[in-house]
Amino acid sequence: MSQHQVQYDFSNVSRHVHSEQMFERAKALIPGGVNSPVRAFNAVGGTPIFIAGADGAVLQDMDGHQYVDFVGSWGPMILGHANKKVIAAITETAQLGTSFGAPTDRETYLADLICDRHPHIDMVRLVNSGTEATMSAIRLARGFTGKERLIKCDGHYHGHGDSLLVAAGSGAASAGIPGSAGVPKALAELTTVVPWNDMAAMESVFKTYDDIAAVIIEPVAGNMGCVPPAEGYLQALRKLCTAHGVLLIIDEVMTGFRVHKGSAQTLYGIEPDIACFGKIIGGGLPLAAYGGRREIMQKLAPLGPVYQAGTLSGNPLAVAAGAATVEQLTDDVYKKVDETTLHIIKELQKLTAKHNIPAAFTGVCGMFSIFFADKAPTNFAEVKKTDVERFKKFFHGMLEEGVYLAPSPFEACFVSYAHDDSLIEHTLSAADSVLAGL
Ligand SMILES: *Cc1c(COP(=O)(O)O)cnc(C)c1O
Repeated sequence: MSQHQVQYDFSNVSRHVHSEQMFERAKALIPGGVNSPVRAFNAVGGTPIFIAGADGAVLQDMDGHQYVDFVGSWGPMILGHANKKVIAAITETAQLGTSFGAPTDRETYLADLICDRHPHIDMVRLVNSGTEATMSAIRLARGFTGKERLIKCDGHYHGHGDSLLVAAGSGAASAGIPGSAGVPKALAELTTVVPWNDMAAMESVFKTYDDIAAVIIEPVAGNMGCVPPAEGYLQALRKLCTAHGVLLIIDEVMTGFRVHKGSAQTLYGIEPDIACFGKIIGGGLPLAAYGGRREIMQKLAPLGPVYQAGTLSGNPLAVAAGAATVEQLTDDVYKKVDETTLHIIKELQKLTAKHNIPAAFTGVCGMFSIFFADKAPTNFAEVKKTDVERFKKFFHGMLEEGVYLAPSPFEACFVSYAHDDSLIEHTLSAADSVLAGL
């Protein structure tokens, strides 16, 4: 498959013989047949499609079916799959060796790219996954403040670290498990959960506890579907944290370099004490980062007492892929991604109205959600009240028509620079016929 040369064929049939066989084999050797739970399709039912390859915004499965991809590896692929410059950077770098466990100048270059676009981030530490970034950010916040309590919002997902698997959205929500077995009670007790977009609840927690080290948020919630911040919420939260000497950790693993070239913190003009990145900054390879004010970051080993390390941290291939991605993220890219996102939302809205189906849409540049409900949810309790059964039918209908949406009503869809007019047109005509049958 090669972008712009091939005539796509989205005429999918319901038989996924190879995917079904491969899933059976995988289930014998890998728990649930997958290496990350949401891939198993538990939230929508059915068999996950096994991927053969991808190009631009099109995926091909092992049965030869093609799909317009709105998952984008759950966020990283903002330029589309197999971007030429990213692949070239990985290939060229690999010729020089794949890991050294010693510093390279490329790591400083990527750190510079990140700091340059985020005026409140003076230093960053590179790690391997979003989970590692948030876990480390919390340790750093505790080490810096000398306090232990963590506040998070209901339905926000910050990776699978022990302290953070409390009322976390998406995978955990779909499975109906509040958090996870195996998380020590003593640790979970140090995490206090409040509803998203509820300033009164946040203020009340600040009155109750005097041992708060940090508040961690997704600036645009994306792991319970896309639920943007209420007007003024982030600014009020920033003020509250500053007044109480509590650090604000902005988890931009999903929103970083997606919603704006300076991420959500720039889009909403809100200063983090520590910010976490992942997904896009690895360009599809395992890489994440956390960064912040110099006085905070200097508490990290080898300078300070907070320990964090990694054999593969700052891996040359991941750094090359990340840098090659960020270098291409110009104003024009964001303008187009933003326009495409707004266009999809507007047209889907017309289609749901045409077919008399109650639906509400949310979105911020590059991410959007469709909720089968009368109005857009503003917190996780409202998200859970949306019509999940209708979403399942919509998901499978779209899959049959060659459109791959996030396989869960609690996940956002992602738009890339590679979603061109013909792919959007196909998506909308697919939606028209699927909505007609709901
Ligand atoms: C994906 C995600 C994470 C976890 O990142 P992994 O690389 O999957 O460990 C953390 N926070 C947010 C907001 C995310 O979207």
